[in-house]
Amino acid sequence: MSADDSRPFAPLPIVDGATPATAASCATVPAAAPGRRLPPWLRQNLAPGGGHGETAGLIAELGLETVCSSAKCPNRLECWSARTATFMILGNVCTRPCGFCSVPRGKTEALEADEPERVAEAARRLGLAHVVITSVTRDDLPDGGAEHFRRTVEAVRAATGAAVEVLVPDFLGKDGALERVMASRPEVFNHNTETVPRLYREVRGRKSRYAWTLGLLREAKRLDPATRTKSGLMLGLGETRDELLDVLADLLGAGVDFLTLGQYLQPTLDSLPVTRYVPPEEFDELGTLARRMGFRRVASGPLVRSSYHAREMTEDGRVA
Ligand code: SF4
Repeated sequence: MSADDSRPFAPLPIVDGATPATAASCATVPAAAPGRRLPPWLRQNLAPGGGHGETAGLIAELGLETVCSSAKCPNRLECWSARTATFMILGNVCTRPCGFCSVPRGKTEALEADEPERVAEAARRLGLAHVVITSVTRDDLPDGGAEHFRRTVEAVRAATGAAVEVLVPDFLGKDGALERVMASRPEVFNHNTETVPRLYREVRGRKSRYAWTLGLLREAKRLDPATRTKSGLMLGLGETRDELLDVLADLLGAGVDFLTLGQYLQPTLDSLPVTRYVPPEEFDELGTLARRMGFRRVASGPLVRSSYHAREMTEDGRVA
């Protein structure tokens, strides 16, 4: 999802062996009170929208959707100004009632047969070297949209030669869906865990299962061991530290390479409330801990999202 080495990104809080993050005890850092008022470390970073015209114009011209807009991502101004975006395929209407997400739900749209080529054209004109493709969840489709994913990955690769990262739903475990996506040999296979198992039903809805998440990640690695697997969680939904660490151990057990940890932000008044704003020092400490546990790369910070600086997460632009 990154264009080139001249982009105006701030340093990413990626934790690897060479760049230890600031360690701090969770217990010594007071959390900000939950509520509508954001803590200072988020207020200073949340720039208002607008001012990212070229990327916005291209996306509008090609009739594409992005998770950046649909999920009200706080990093949109930064990412779009740097000519990078995460493309959202399969429409803009989702079939799952996740409590954390602002993507519209309701009557789904017909697939657009030329969408893969339009995504590829956008990636080519943006000059992307690492392209992130995600989707709404389409439980209404026989294959959950897996064939459309495959076609999009292949179209992007043919048009750009870029590395491709897919950020996929769980496809409801439909037969052959994962295999179809993996047939396109994505460089990175990303499926978000989102939260700890105790909160799964509340956060991800009754159709989602923690075991499916782990199984999907494990199976993706088995099908193509060369693919880097990746997952992410939002913090501040009510999880405990012990629950979080258990999830990290489970992800490692499923062979996951890359991890993202970010602050949950309530996107609409109807969405789940934030239970805690996790201080940056605690994200640093968790990032260091996760790296020591065995993840190859970790991005941990209040504004980290699963597609934030995705190219940098692939070990300095190379999917090694
Ligand atoms: S972090 Fe990802 S979703 Fe958010 S604006 Fe950047 S590319 Fe889009």
